[in-house]
Amino acid sequence: MARKVGIYTRISRDDEGEAMGVARQQQDCERLADLRSWQAVKVYEDNDVSAFKRNVVRDEFELMLNDLRAGLIHGIVAYDLDRLARQPRDLERLIEIFDERPRSEFATVTNDVNLGTPDGRTMARIMVAFANKSSHDASRRIRRKHLELAQQGKDSGGPAPYGWRKDDRLKVDPDAARVIREAQQEILAGVRIGTIRNRWQEQGLGRPRAGTKRIAHHHVEHMLTSPRLVGYRTYHGEILTGGDGEPIKGEWEPLNTLAEWEAVCAAVAERKQQHPPGRNLARKYLLSGIARCGLCKTKIRGQVNQRWKPGSKAATFSYQCSVVNGGCGKVARVGDPVDKLIAELVLEEQREKAAAQGTPAEQQWSREVELDAVQADISQLLEAEKSKQITVSTLLQLLPTKEKERDELKLERARFYKDQKQAEAREAAGDLSLTEFFDLPIERQREIVLQSLSAVMIHPAGRGRRIFDPALIDPIWR
Ligand SMILES: [Zn+2]
Repeated sequence: MARKVGIYTRISRDDEGEAMGVARQQQDCERLADLRSWQAVKVYEDNDVSAFKRNVVRDEFELMLNDLRAGLIHGIVAYDLDRLARQPRDLERLIEIFDERPRSEFATVTNDVNLGTPDGRTMARIMVAFANKSSHDASRRIRRKHLELAQQGKDSGGPAPYGWRKDDRLKVDPDAARVIREAQQEILAGVRIGTIRNRWQEQGLGRPRAGTKRIAHHHVEHMLTSPRLVGYRTYHGEILTGGDGEPIKGEWEPLNTLAEWEAVCAAVAERKQQHPPGRNLARKYLLSGIARCGLCKTKIRGQVNQRWKPGSKAATFSYQCSVVNGGCGKVARVGDPVDKLIAELVLEEQREKAAAQGTPAEQQWSREVELDAVQADISQLLEAEKSKQITVSTLLQLLPTKEKERDELKLERARFYKDQKQAEAREAAGDLSLTEFFDLPIERQREIVLQSLSAVMIHPAGRGRRIFDPALIDPIWR
């Protein structure tokens, strides 16, 4: 009876150009099995899996070892040893099984290696060791090539990031760019990333490729703050700098100016510092924590009215001085009219202010020359070391001070642009109608109120008074 053998085929990315398809490997192996009068009973096919990468599990390879060990097949035919085992570890596991089952068959199309004999094993070990080394060299070469391309500002491959055109990732996609810029404006105006994420999710925006169902918070953050926006080339997540210490500029069209990008990054960083992640910051009511009790002056919050029952009209809410929060518990007011009154007052005040001030001229950061000088010093030091005018240890003595100076200036510049852009983003509130105001995310509404007011005093109304009396709501202007 013919011996049963398994055929192992694998195609890897290294085969590009060689056109060694799995189908051809299989045909050649079947012919070889025929020649030896073996019966090919099963084909184990790993597709696009590198036998060289350590962390990759080749499912079919593992299955084949199990079948061989279990005696379901009596041998293996592979196209060549490279495809079967590029890691010495894999070869040793195979040899172990041949030790346990000495009568197992083995053949490859391209080399005459027999794992059943000591000579054959030595041969196989040498071949795998060399293949392993050349793979290491290849991967080192590829890594070096990637870095080299990055240093030249070449774009990395893959699908276009959100904000750039799908057919040409070097060009900005105007629609996506508008979405990103709008969200950046919102960030500067105090809107949380989580709020933007939710809206993008609902509207199907921000998806780098079709079929992505959920967008994660950190993805949105990345899309709004990525160095790519300002044209900086990154490598393994870090902004890549050239020999002169300056960021390397990519070959693609940037979406932000430096001022815009630094302002957004600084705003996001500041928010993270003030509100460490993990706490729920979402507020439900416009004046929670802004309103204070007119009697005891404690901060008061909005609460859903308890008399409301599911199925009845929309829930109403009240601002209520609460004993739980250390208040007197004696003051409460239905919320909606208070919100409406305060919004009207605040918008009116901001309209007047905007009209009086006019649009401020865009200002340049005043210390750009200083920063340039420090950058030039750093480049010079690096250059001097390269041309052996100074030693490495001298370089390392001088460099840290300059780097610190540079980083401090850069931080100051980011803060300057952040303040400027924040002011611009906030000014826009002057043109809002009441409806537009209430359509904004709640944190943006609160931000606008806080621009004008430091608190809202709610004074007690007499017993049994059902009519809303604006005179008992006392805005405290800044
Ligand atoms: Zn109170």
